[in-house]
Amino acid sequence: MSKPKVIVTGGAGFLGSHLCDKMLSENFRVICIDNLITGNPDNISHLFGNPDFEFIKHDITNYIHVQGEVDYILHFASPASPIDYLKLPIQTLKVGALGTHKVLGLAKEKCARILLASTSEVYGDPTIHPQKEEYWGNVNPVGPRGVYDEAKRFAEAITMAYNRYHGIETRIVRIFNTYGPRMRLNDGRALPAFVSQALNGEDITVFGDGSQTRSFCYVDDLVDGIYKLLMSDETNPVNIGNPDEITIKQFAEEVIKITGSRSKIIYKVLPEDDPKVRQPDISRARTILGWEPKIGREEGLRKTINYFLSINNSNK
Ligand code: NAD
Ligand code: UDP
Repeated sequence: MSKPKVIVTGGAGFLGSHLCDKMLSENFRVICIDNLITGNPDNISHLFGNPDFEFIKHDITNYIHVQGEVDYILHFASPASPIDYLKLPIQTLKVGALGTHKVLGLAKEKCARILLASTSEVYGDPTIHPQKEEYWGNVNPVGPRGVYDEAKRFAEAITMAYNRYHGIETRIVRIFNTYGPRMRLNDGRALPAFVSQALNGEDITVFGDGSQTRSFCYVDDLVDGIYKLLMSDETNPVNIGNPDEITIKQFAEEVIKITGSRSKIIYKVLPEDDPKVRQPDISRARTILGWEPKIGREEGLRKTINYFLSINNSNK
């Protein structure tokens, strides 16, 4: 019997490339579709030459043509770091709206099951804490983050419409801050920013007073949760993240300690609409998928720091 085939949109990005690895290890054939707008071919270069892997450079806001059968689609294409989507507002809205529409059309045509990468940002600056899937969110549609948040909210809505109207099999994962190897050191997110500043002995730039919270999940845990959700029967959105919440100031201190850096913390203006708190309620993932994260922050941070050190060394 031939192996099942999965398409990973955004497969040359941070999370998408780990999903390509995971699906190959689970004996799937993988087609990675990416226009490389924020992705990096280095993330998938180890897969070139694998007969079960194919890379197609394509902007998914345009018609997607794939020959033959497709069994699953993991839809991960979208800029994801705040500085990326602030720099690419129109592309972010287009990939979330037009791109998701094209991918759903492909899923309908191929009778494939599709999993949408949604985000904790659909909860905006939340007034409920921790965030449960039943919470509808507090998003400013006209603020700078609205381009990402509303694109993802639209993507969830059109995914449910295709499920209800066309009967296609859909899954929605709401991903909370995830980190690990293959993040870009300069993507502006707190973790790579702090680690790169600490390793270079530069000041650590905490935005606001650092009392805002986040909950960081190591990439291997996330990939495990996504695979379980893809294989489950759950159509409603499921939060996947690590509930271990920390303030950004404490997190900066932790990075300084683990890297053994002499960097000092400095404070900069808090970006507009920056969520004050964020922590996933993962009861649904625990109950339905039997999933919970296993890798603690210190272990995950060490693995990620080692990765950043290894790419720094190989660039010398
Ligand atoms: P990333 O920027 O590393 O990867 C996104 C990939 O999508 C890139 O390779 C990019 O080139 C590709 N892409 C963007 N627009 C495209 C288009 N029009 N056509 C084809 N390819 C396109 O970001 P990431 O952190 O890996 O995020 C992946 C997905 O997960 C995104 O949908 C993001 O919203 C979601 N997500 C990530 C996090 C996180 O913490 N990393 C949290 C919540 C949600
Ligand atoms: N942040 C910070 N310094 C930085 C980058 C980010 O203090 O150099 C803060 C940011 O304002 C936010 C938190 O760290 O409160 C997490 O930011 P990130 O960009 O990682 O992702 P977000 O969760 O906001 O999407």
